Amino acid sequence: MVPTTGSLVWFRRDLRPHDHAALHAALRAGGPVHCVFVFDTEILDELTEPADRRVEFIWESVRALQTALEALGGGLHVLHGRAREAVPQLAGKLRASAVYTNRDYEPQALARDTAVAAALQARGIGFHTRKDQVIFERGEITTRAGGDFSVFTPYKRAWLAKLTPFFVKAYPIEAHRAQLAPAPPKNLPTLETLGFQRTDLSALGIQPGSTGGAQTFAAFKRRIDRYHELRDFPAAAATSGLSIHLRFGTVSVRELAAYARQRRNAGAETWLSELVWRDFYFAILAARPEVVDRAFRPEYDAVEFDDNDRYWRAWRDGQTGYPLVDAAMRQLNQTGFMHNRLRMVSASFLVKDLGIAWQRGERYFAARLNDYDLAANNGGWQWAASTGCDAQPWFRIFNPVTQSIRFDSEGAFIRRFVPELREVPEQRIHAPWQMTPLEQQAAHCIIGREYPAPIVDHEQARKRTLARYAVVRDARQAR
Ligand SMILES: Cc1cc2nc3c(=O)[nH]c(=O)nc-3n(C[C@H](O)[C@H](O)[C@H](O)COP(=O)(O)OP(=O)(O)OC[C@H]3O[C@@H](n4cnc5c(N)ncnc54)[C@H](O)[C@@H]3O)c2cc1C
Repeated sequence: MVPTTGSLVWFRRDLRPHDHAALHAALRAGGPVHCVFVFDTEILDELTEPADRRVEFIWESVRALQTALEALGGGLHVLHGRAREAVPQLAGKLRASAVYTNRDYEPQALARDTAVAAALQARGIGFHTRKDQVIFERGEITTRAGGDFSVFTPYKRAWLAKLTPFFVKAYPIEAHRAQLAPAPPKNLPTLETLGFQRTDLSALGIQPGSTGGAQTFAAFKRRIDRYHELRDFPAAAATSGLSIHLRFGTVSVRELAAYARQRRNAGAETWLSELVWRDFYFAILAARPEVVDRAFRPEYDAVEFDDNDRYWRAWRDGQTGYPLVDAAMRQLNQTGFMHNRLRMVSASFLVKDLGIAWQRGERYFAARLNDYDLAANNGGWQWAASTGCDAQPWFRIFNPVTQSIRFDSEGAFIRRFVPELREVPEQRIHAPWQMTPLEQQAAHCIIGREYPAPIVDHEQARKRTLARYAVVRDARQAR
């Protein structure tokens, strides 16, 4: 039998050559350390759109990772196929004694990893996983009784209490670089070979790779101190824009949390809270994988939604007649991004004004968001639909007009994405149907012609939603 030696590091959603838990562990265990990324057809075959910004982002980030590993004296094998088979085969071919990878918590990824571990075991190869995507994973932050938290505030308190420098310390790579093994040169398939094409990623100013992640973070450091004041205003561009980098691991969450922790001001503390929400939703998904298609609170599965296609299309296309909702949906459709406040408003509008099931909206976001992340998206949708853990109470229903007045008071964001409303005066921009015929003419915006009348009356929709959700209250009272 040929002796095995060294290991293979399998990169997935951790596309950076620094502060990398699995790579660090493999290097410390001894070389040679090979590296691989697989363009997994099980994932890619599900994508219907050839111009997918996420695939381009990954492709560019893999290319940058390969260059960076080569500069360190190593290399990156890049494969195209089913990871379940490709990884064990490559590990066997390289005679690696172990495969190292960072843990993924999504149900499909867990199933794949179980299959890979079994295939490796059959070949006598070890499979070692590390925590890397989050600061604390499920089981590290628990209630006094040792259970999972389902309310955010006590979770956050426990999370912050546990956050010592140890948990945000970087995993260095450079010191062990001599162990890195080279890979065959020029083995990166083209985007076209993978069945995809270039998108407007660079025109949108999205810089992939760990260099892009570092630049985005550096720019945000100049804004972080005012994050708590400005983060809710979509026109202000006050948030970090790091979600796509966190999604694909082109930044290290430890580095971000370490910075926010030591910055010690209101802006940084509020921002750190968002990273805690991120961990919270990862932990929820790990603890309750059934939330992928069912309500976190099972009694909410009894709520019956409508399937009104006309409403659905109006919401999807940004044609509801509610300017803030329409601007939000058009931002998503045009750029693949939507501001957090608007994700809450537009999700709430779909479920609680249009009476459409949250799962349908969630799937639409999943297809469109550049930063799509199952745990955060599911958590966000279930929050807005009141079906989730620590969610918005079912009887609290966002008013799309007052949200608009509060968070886009001058209508700057609305005007950017709904050009039909550009000339509508500030006092009318949030409810343009209230313009008189003369005002409509002056604004070059005839309601029902240039811009739709509201598709539903918010007050009536609110009453319908309260009646719809009453099954939850009735079920509770019957208990
Ligand atoms: C209905 C709905 C769907 C969402 N879908 C996603 C999604 O698919 N992917 C995603 O990354 N975020 C999602 N979010 C959370 C949030 O809207 C985005 O993370 C944020 O808008 C990204 O912009 P940013 O990077 O500038 O955020 P910042 O405000 O700078 O926040 C920093 C980071 O914290 C994390 N974060 C912030 N808010 C949340 C939150 N509420 N829940 C979990 N993590 C958070 C993100 O990783 C984000 O990049 C969703 C929220 C809602 C209400």
